[in-house]
Amino acid sequence: MTHVRDAAATDDPQAIAACEVPAGYRAAVVLAADHQALAGSPVEDRDPRKTVQVQEVPTPEPDHGEVLIATMASSINYNTVWSALFEPVPTFRFLRTLGRTSPEAARHDQPYHVLGSDLSGVVLRTGPGVREWKPGDEVVAHCLQPDLQTPGGHDDTLLDPGQRVWGYETNFGGLAELSLVKANQLMPKPAHLTWEEAASLGVALSTAYRQLVSHHGAAMKQGERVLVWGAAGGVGAYATQLALNGGAVPICVVSSQAKADLCRQMGAELVIDRAAEGFSFWEGRDRPRLSEWSRFRGAVRSLAGDDPDIVIEHPGRDTFGVSVMIAARGGKVVTCASTTGYQHTYDNRHLWMRVKRIIGSHMANYREAWAANELVARGSIHPVLSRVYPLDATGDATHAVANNSHHGKVGVLCLADRPGMGVRDPELRARKLDSINLFRK
Ligand code: NDP
Repeated sequence: MTHVRDAAATDDPQAIAACEVPAGYRAAVVLAADHQALAGSPVEDRDPRKTVQVQEVPTPEPDHGEVLIATMASSINYNTVWSALFEPVPTFRFLRTLGRTSPEAARHDQPYHVLGSDLSGVVLRTGPGVREWKPGDEVVAHCLQPDLQTPGGHDDTLLDPGQRVWGYETNFGGLAELSLVKANQLMPKPAHLTWEEAASLGVALSTAYRQLVSHHGAAMKQGERVLVWGAAGGVGAYATQLALNGGAVPICVVSSQAKADLCRQMGAELVIDRAAEGFSFWEGRDRPRLSEWSRFRGAVRSLAGDDPDIVIEHPGRDTFGVSVMIAARGGKVVTCASTTGYQHTYDNRHLWMRVKRIIGSHMANYREAWAANELVARGSIHPVLSRVYPLDATGDATHAVANNSHHGKVGVLCLADRPGMGVRDPELRARKLDSINLFRK
């Protein structure tokens, strides 16, 4: 694999085109056998450091419309946490379903699942029919794989019943030395970023973009107040930057002084440290503490002067009722996740009497992801990478995200043998360096 790494690092398309494709590669995987062994054990007892293994797997041949990438870096998304815990469903179930769709798709159904829904790297080989990309192109990958064989997705690929999240609902993901993607996932790598920085944006940024900016989400306008839960986490930190970049006013909610400082350094003026202020929204598992919901609304009002027009939701069970309550009359709660539990409780009177809307949002379509990537390439939105792990330590990296002990995004080096490589536009980088490094420890 060293010859692939060396060729990919050169910025020389001919070197990469001439490179022999290895028969196997190292990848971070979960194993079907581990899922069977853990079946019935409580999810709290499962540990990504034990379930995520790094092992050699065979290299898949790119089929029609597919591209094999020499993966320089990747990052941890929460979906890798779900895969590692085999919750709420073991991802082998997705691979089995995908494998049944066609003879070509059958190779996804393996006893191992190569994880990861982000990458930066270099196109190594293209399958038949690929026109837009060629060996040597430096790319990042959007995670959505549409199918589009039925009419459902032709207005918005998220409505395609056959769409899948690469590296979660498909095999051959980005936490590996090689990755298999569809050509219509690829986007140009922002030239001023390192491999690991470029790989840390895709999923979280495009999700925040659709939630907040797109007409499929909140279609945010200048001056709107946007409450962002987890504003120093992946989705939240990008939502905060998008709000500021679009002339809106983020109200950042975090759980430590260090995270509050990061929000202020991104440019947010309104920050609530939910831990310091001791907000506790539930009594036990099931009884809402309504006085705490009201206290939180009061804190938001006194900080921002009014209720938020938009709430960026993803914690789910713990916060959803609060989000519906505190959104302004006519406001929007846009949800993309349920990290703390997917059965939500809210008081529906707040929703209907004040004509609020709850909007479901998932990932982003290719066009939305492309628009978000362009903001990065122009230096308007910056990575929030805090820490980088080697591929061998993918389990530790996943553990950090699962335990909320990280800030921003956690990166993983795949073929890149050290951080800091891959910058092609040092001049833009020099101008934006402070913002790029904001989350680095
Ligand atoms: P991170 O772990 O980076 O950030 C999540 C943040 O949520 C944390 O920083 C934390 O902030 C906050 N949080 C955690 N627990 C609570 C709680 N009980 N109350 C309030 N806030 C809480 O994850 P990501 O930002 O990458 O992802 C967030 C969620 O979004 C995940 O569930 C993920 O699966 C989902 N997601 C969904 C996508 C989709 O397309 N549907 C795509 C990407 C992500 P703090 O402790 O500082 O308050």
